[in-house]
Amino acid sequence: MARRPLIAGNWKMNGSLGESRKLVDALRTGVGSGSGADMLLAPPYVYIPAVKEWIAGSSLLLGAQDVADKQGSGAYTGEVSGAMLADLGCRYAIVGHSERRALYGETDAIVAAKFKAAQAAKLLPILCVGETLAERDAGATEQTVSRQLLAVLESAGVDAFARAVVAYEPVWAIGTGRTATPAQAQEVHAFLRASVAARNATIAADLQILYGGSVKGSNARALFDMDDIDGGLVGGASLAAAEFLDIFRAAT
Ligand code: PEP
Repeated sequence: MARRPLIAGNWKMNGSLGESRKLVDALRTGVGSGSGADMLLAPPYVYIPAVKEWIAGSSLLLGAQDVADKQGSGAYTGEVSGAMLADLGCRYAIVGHSERRALYGETDAIVAAKFKAAQAAKLLPILCVGETLAERDAGATEQTVSRQLLAVLESAGVDAFARAVVAYEPVWAIGTGRTATPAQAQEVHAFLRASVAARNATIAADLQILYGGSVKGSNARALFDMDDIDGGLVGGASLAAAEFLDIFRAAT
């Protein structure tokens, strides 16, 4: 891990306000005054203002789980713009999470538009890519992640990746308890970095590429020890303070 590690917690649609407060307080205490890694929290939209207050003065970072694909403002009922998220103190926005792609029909083109909308609002997009089990079994892992990455690279340009994070999240490992082995993950991370390096080696060398998919305290260190794995995007385990802090410490 040559780049500064980032450990991001994606709460998804979980927790009450009271539970969120307890979780944030415990994480804030556990992370302390900072260390060799960053911890990012991505709560549900409606909790973002509260979390912003709870983390004030700490090293914890704030992000959103999604962002509108439209820039500016307008008649887009139910959507939340990048500018609104930036206004609330978000630094990051996750785009293209596999649940958004699979359950809400987000295409590569929509994901690219979200990536650009996030950057237009000065947010750092965390672009998620990953293959399904059927695609892995068919030997199509690189083809899938390449298609997902190139859709954004071609639309936003390689320079945009100097202000972005990529997350490799094999769909078969998300929420299943089945983690990619460090070697499996490293192989895809190296492929993703090489795909960016083909256009700009400096940007590729600095690009943070996170792994996501059933990361736990017990498997985090072996994953983060790999050369091209720069931290984790964590779902389930980010809802339990002790477990999430174990993951964080594994990166420091
Ligand atoms: C995720 O939601 O991005 C994720 C990786 O979930 P989990 O850690 O629960 O597999």
